[in-house]
Formats: sequence, C-alpha cells, structure tokens
Amino acid sequence: MPMFEFECKNCRNKFEELIRDQKKIRCPRCDSFDLIKLISASGAISDQAKCHWDDPSLPNKQEFQRKR
Ligand SMILES: [Zn+2]
Repeated sequence: MPMFEFECKNCRNKFEELIRDQKKIRCPRCDSFDLIKLISASGAISDQAKCHWDDPSLPNKQEFQRKR
C-alpha cells in the first residue's frame, strides 16, 4: 500500500499516512485538512536528477575550456 508523507499547513506537523480508499487525510495533531503532500524520500528521484546532469546535449566542459 502506498505511504505518503504530509505536512500540515496549519501546525507544521509532519506525518506519514497510508492512502487507502478515497478517505480524507487530516492532521493527527490539529485535525486540519489543509495539508501539503511531500515527495517521498525514495532513491528513484535522486537517480533521475543525476541522469539530467549527464545529458549529452549539454555543452562539454573540457571542450569549452579548449576553445578559449
Ligand atoms: Zn496540524
């Protein structure tokens, strides 16, 4: 079952919640529905960011220095 991390906009409380059915998630501390869904700290996201830096369409740093 997917687990998501939420931050309450009202009291800044961070908590994890299992998403099942379509039930409304609310802050366990202040009962607010005003929540931000945080990106889970999984390795897949940082791997994607790393791939972006290795993009071959980006100018090569060594080539750039040789031209000067
Ligand atoms: Zn709260």
